[in-house]
Amino acid sequence: MSQGTLFIVSAPSGAGKTSLVRELIESLDGIQVSVSHTTRAKREGEVDGVNYHFTDAATFEAMIARGEFFEYAKVFDNYYGTSRLAVQTVLDAGQDVILEIDWQGARQVREQMPEAVSIFVLPPSRSELERRLASRGTDEHAIIARRMRDAISEMSHYDEYDYLVVNDDFTTALQELQSLVISRRLARPLMSERHAPLLATLLSQAPGVE
Ligand code: 5GP
Repeated sequence: MSQGTLFIVSAPSGAGKTSLVRELIESLDGIQVSVSHTTRAKREGEVDGVNYHFTDAATFEAMIARGEFFEYAKVFDNYYGTSRLAVQTVLDAGQDVILEIDWQGARQVREQMPEAVSIFVLPPSRSELERRLASRGTDEHAIIARRMRDAISEMSHYDEYDYLVVNDDFTTALQELQSLVISRRLARPLMSERHAPLLATLLSQAPGVE
């Protein structure tokens, strides 16, 4: 069986990455999103094992020491990481995997798996990003300004990615993500492995042809 493809999706908060990825995996077969470990507190509505594996710092650090993370990073004072075994098991089963991770994690993945496909999702404008960041539960100017600084810092790494998607119209951005996954599945090395019997039949010589 051929290996699945690893997709990395990064974005500043406020770009709509999580909603896009959720719709993407619902709209296509054979693709899953990896559930990360994190030491950050659970937000309202989040479920352990679904949104994240919520873990304390000691457990996380023990996992680092045992080499269990494919990648990990400290993002906004909390640890976030991807389990090596979980990702490899899904790829080995021929399924595609999406990692929703930051630019630091993306770098570590590229080093270990250069064939991973990386996508950066951008908001449609500065003013729309400001509006989305301001509507996240607080009006406090300092908090919004901090979110904006963090977003700009994440976006400054856009040029390390293979593809850019601008999330202006949600449906269009979703179609663009779907196209990237589908076109990757049509790449010749994957297709020739998957369709080896078809190719063998198509290329066999007709009787009597020299
Ligand atoms: P949030 O706490 O808002 O869910 O995520 C904050 C940031 O952490 C986002 O930029 C997200 O992409 C990043 N992140 C989530 N999981 C991982 C992970 O497993 N590894 C890395 N490197 N970043 C992650």
